[in-house]
Amino acid sequence: MQIRLENIIFRYSAGVPVLNDISLDIKKGERVALIGHNGSGKTTLAKHLNGLLRPAAGTIRIDGRKTDTESVARLSGIVALLFQNPDDMIAKRRVWDEVAFGPKNLAYPEGRIKILVAESLALFELLPLQDCNPYDLGYSERKRVALASIIAMDTPILVLDEPTAGMDPREIVLLTGALEKLREDYKTVIIISHDMDFIAELVPRVICLAGGKKRFDGLVRQAFQDQSLLAVCGLLQPQIVRLSTYFRQTEPALTPVEFLENWQRRAK
Ligand code: ADP
Repeated sequence: MQIRLENIIFRYSAGVPVLNDISLDIKKGERVALIGHNGSGKTTLAKHLNGLLRPAAGTIRIDGRKTDTESVARLSGIVALLFQNPDDMIAKRRVWDEVAFGPKNLAYPEGRIKILVAESLALFELLPLQDCNPYDLGYSERKRVALASIIAMDTPILVLDEPTAGMDPREIVLLTGALEKLREDYKTVIIISHDMDFIAELVPRVICLAGGKKRFDGLVRQAFQDQSLLAVCGLLQPQIVRLSTYFRQTEPALTPVEFLENWQRRAK
């Protein structure tokens, strides 16, 4: 499903807008990162996509249809939003029930719910924990439960707010696998993250916000080579880009594999 934002303005109270004239287009199946300093407006923008917040001015369209009169309940069947903190999402006392909660609210048939829940639990290696109380689990396990719950909703659009925060490297590999499946399923995925290394490896397009304004919308490679943009947006260049630049590679690498390929090309 295509997302189109036109001239979005939003304020929490009277004063400076938190979102200041944001326009953007995201196509079906795209994977886009929303990056920027703390307080730049990323979460506020994400909440506009499923109707949790409504703009003071401007239009949001999903597949050409304006969302201003759509209920949050209807929009949540289209856009699933992972909150930064899993504890803001978890409401049930059993992992299986938690992951089934979204699909049940969307009134999916029982058989489909069972399949979606089992698949999502498996993606995050949660099947052995399916009968546990989420609050008896560690933070990163609860984060995996929240991610599984979002994926089980099987919506065409997913917005993941800081999905890697609090996760160990092995759990990030599980998340990478889940994102690969979403790509194969042609889902649109918007990732808000401060993890520049994760973004450099996995997301081709970035939208950079600073002070509620869109400062850049384009290829991740271009953004991570633009020192003044990174400074305005309060972001650090990914480590692999820094290393690649240090060794004066002609095309700075975004991943360790690219770095090695550059290295081997130069050695020939
Ligand atoms: P980011 O996700 O980029 O860190 P946010 O969208 O969370 O930014 O916040 C943008 C700005 O809006 C910040 O100045 C923040 O303090 C303010 N803000 C966020 N949520 C609220 C709220 N519920 N009430 C008032 N101000 C808020």
